[in-house]
Amino acid sequence: MDELRDSLFFAPKNGYDRIGTDERLAIEDYSRDYMDFLNNARMEREAVKYAIGMAIEHGFVEYVPGMELKPGTKVYKNNRGKSLMLAVIGKKSLGEGAVIAGAHVDSPRLDLKQMPLYESDEMAFLKTHYYGGIKKYQWVTIPLELHGVVALKSGEVVDVVLGRESGEPKFVITDLLPHLAQDQMKKTMPEVFPGESLNILIGSTPYADEGKDRVKLAILSLLNDSYGITEEDFLSAELAAVPAFDVTEIGLDRSFIGGYGQDDRVCAFAELRALFDLDVPERTAVCLLADKEEIGSEGVSGMQSECFDTFMADLCESEGVALRRCFEKSFCISADVCNAYDPLYPEVSEKMNAARANYGVGICKFTGSRGKSGTSDASAELVAYCRKLFSEGNVIWQMAELGKVDQGGGGTIAKFMAKRNIDTIDAGTPVLSMHAPFEVTAKLDCYMTYKAVKVAYEAK
Ligand code: MN
Ligand code: MN
Repeated sequence: MDELRDSLFFAPKNGYDRIGTDERLAIEDYSRDYMDFLNNARMEREAVKYAIGMAIEHGFVEYVPGMELKPGTKVYKNNRGKSLMLAVIGKKSLGEGAVIAGAHVDSPRLDLKQMPLYESDEMAFLKTHYYGGIKKYQWVTIPLELHGVVALKSGEVVDVVLGRESGEPKFVITDLLPHLAQDQMKKTMPEVFPGESLNILIGSTPYADEGKDRVKLAILSLLNDSYGITEEDFLSAELAAVPAFDVTEIGLDRSFIGGYGQDDRVCAFAELRALFDLDVPERTAVCLLADKEEIGSEGVSGMQSECFDTFMADLCESEGVALRRCFEKSFCISADVCNAYDPLYPEVSEKMNAARANYGVGICKFTGSRGKSGTSDASAELVAYCRKLFSEGNVIWQMAELGKVDQGGGGTIAKFMAKRNIDTIDAGTPVLSMHAPFEVTAKLDCYMTYKAVKVAYEAK
């Protein structure tokens, strides 16, 4: 009976029971580099910049239309500093399709409004409009730092990073003390923190003179000293407050990584590392780092933008291949995180189908809910292809479902890739506390995400 059970049942195993010492060491090495990336890439622009730096070190050059491309050529295309496409040209024609891995490098955060700065009762604040899906209560009483750019009328673009370096001041949104919160605590969560209440404390020293708005004036003169900007320049700025926590190992056994923005930079980093490992792949390998996924993949830097089609059409034209021929033969891993089963909140997941920490990269056949609405739903054949690929490449992986049938659901770039007639499947790292200011992943799963993309790129 035991024999029969072993041959017929499918029983997933903890990843740590399936790897040896070599792989344990590889996981640690990989995690160190990933944590460094995560500490330095806290906004999409910073992720793109960091990735270009890494790419140049690995022999990539900026794509110039009309340039000669041959097997092994490594190119990248920077889309307005906010999204990035990279490719390693393969031995086979693009008419036989490309292997694409697409992640996103934007994360939930608090964007500053275009007129953000105001003074109230001799304290200065910045107004925000949150970006992406957040639970607002998580974003108050935590240290925040400011990132982004201010584009001046002169055409100059000023980079802003404030609060990242040790010793630099940070910012915060305040909350009521419990002693005075009896009424507040009777409210429902959305009632407690309306969007308009997420205002960031930025200073309190009045300008040493008489008149009104002296604190606001003092703050503006500090900003003017550091960045040469005036209040009007906020109109053409993209500034955001993000959590100021450092990325760190979590647990006595250091098996987890805690930090901001792991959705989806954990997969972005996995793709980059996998791409940089390549010599000359069979099929052209493409890595996408998209922006705007958290708000529906909209905009010129999101995955619905034709910037991707333009880049791919350029590569195809150099071989005299029609883009649509390339797309219909291509394979895409939409590398985005899934939720890890959380024993503290078992009620929202269906345990048999939920992804678990340390069980490897999670494959989501579909990501929608309530009748699978809004999902790409990869075909059985495509899932079978991944099973074969991952088992041959010793990738530890698991099936994942984003919450119970009537609970969850979530969007990724998968449906926008599938719309282009590209066979697409969602695969990514399971995350605890997804979209929180401090998200948690298991090191083993981060590493297995990299390995999954790598074997896909290397497939014959
Ligand atoms: Mn995501
Ligand atoms: Mn997300």
